[in-house]
Amino acid sequence: MNRLVMKFGGTSVADLERIRNVARHVKREVDAGNKVAVVVSAMAGQTDQLVAWAKEASAIHDAREYDAVVATGEQVTSGLLALVLQGMDISARSWLGWQIPIRTDAVHGAARIVDIEAEEIGGRMDDGQVAVIAGFQGLGPDNRVATLGRGGSDTSAVALAAALDARCHIYTDVDGVYTTDPRIVSKARKLERISYEEMLEMASLGAKVLQTRSVEAAMIHRVPLRVRSSFDDPETVDVSGNNIPGTLVCDEDEIVEQEVVSGIAYSRNEAKVTLARVRDKPGVSARIFGPLSESEINVDMIVQNVSGDGKYTDLTFTVSENDLERALKVIEEAKDEIEYEDLTGSTEVVKVSVIGIGMRSHAGVAAKMFRTLADRNINIQAITTSEIKISVLIDSAYTELALRSLHTAYGLDAET
Ligand code: ADP
Ligand code: ASP
Ligand code: MG
Repeated sequence: MNRLVMKFGGTSVADLERIRNVARHVKREVDAGNKVAVVVSAMAGQTDQLVAWAKEASAIHDAREYDAVVATGEQVTSGLLALVLQGMDISARSWLGWQIPIRTDAVHGAARIVDIEAEEIGGRMDDGQVAVIAGFQGLGPDNRVATLGRGGSDTSAVALAAALDARCHIYTDVDGVYTTDPRIVSKARKLERISYEEMLEMASLGAKVLQTRSVEAAMIHRVPLRVRSSFDDPETVDVSGNNIPGTLVCDEDEIVEQEVVSGIAYSRNEAKVTLARVRDKPGVSARIFGPLSESEINVDMIVQNVSGDGKYTDLTFTVSENDLERALKVIEEAKDEIEYEDLTGSTEVVKVSVIGIGMRSHAGVAAKMFRTLADRNINIQAITTSEIKISVLIDSAYTELALRSLHTAYGLDAET
């Protein structure tokens, strides 16, 4: 399989000098005989700026026009990279989502890719032309540009790799997937391999190195996915055999030495809602969570404490930070039905999660997490678990301390 999709994120295309560096990575792969498609993000910070302008222009923004604005960052970088490649005598052509087309569903701002008509670009790639594709965007059923949610270029790249039957290399500003965010924990260790399932949990629990949907797509379509650095010197990277740098995201059975815990993720995008002294009678949870789900607010963690006399209960749950205001409004509006005394919301919380396939067969992982946090006097406000992860909600002031302590406790620290 010598078709290759290379994806470069915002920091990797932040200015013309970096774009020239990207072009040298592309040239290396073309020279090695690969048929290449390149997916690019917008220049670092551009999408944030575009989102801010769209929000400033209209508080209740029309999602179609929001997409028309925020998709433009990728148009600039795809054109610039095609120009730079042509200047190096490499045949190249830029493509926007609608030109391929990459078809999506109708959910503007967080659209899903439903189909890619890849024959035309696949044929051109096989004839030696590099396809430079604007990430993060597609064509909705309403014939308008639709964006895939923040970080969505990863998903563009994986979906294209699946449609083109290609390998996928995600180039970013770190040299692989680490046991935890290397910008927070200096002892984080680079993983040679991580299973699709663990990567999916890591991404959905906050590790933004890959967008969750890109991992989902790689897992479903069995796309060999590698995360690597765009800051390596393009000419000295070894492209032969198994010596490719970075982290391979692959099937569980391709990993020889499986750790019990593979990684630790955190998410600051959490908010906590507490209802105090709720009348404890049958149906109370339904009265609280029914209206929330009708308003399409996802609830993640839930904790309930019943008072000594059994008449009242305190109830805490978490929603994503962006949904906090709406959640408080929904609960306030249902106050008479729910019957509670006090309602509070807070965004000063962080969700910390330990992830590992080995948890399926090893006991004591949760106990170690609780003990480690207790030893540092970090109070746990809520807990959720699944087969391969445990998440706790703590005060956000302790994020770094918690990550570092847990990283050491599970034996993940890099040797120095
Ligand atoms: P890009 O612009 O290339 O898409 P992102 O900023 O989206 O890059 O993702 C890369 C960032 O992800 C890194 O700079 C790093 O801080 C962060 N990150 C979080 N968790 C991890 C992890 N476990 N391994 C590697 N990077 C991580
Ligand atoms: N430019 C988009 C964003 O910043 C998409 C991406 O970078 O993946 O979210
Ligand atoms: Mg990203």
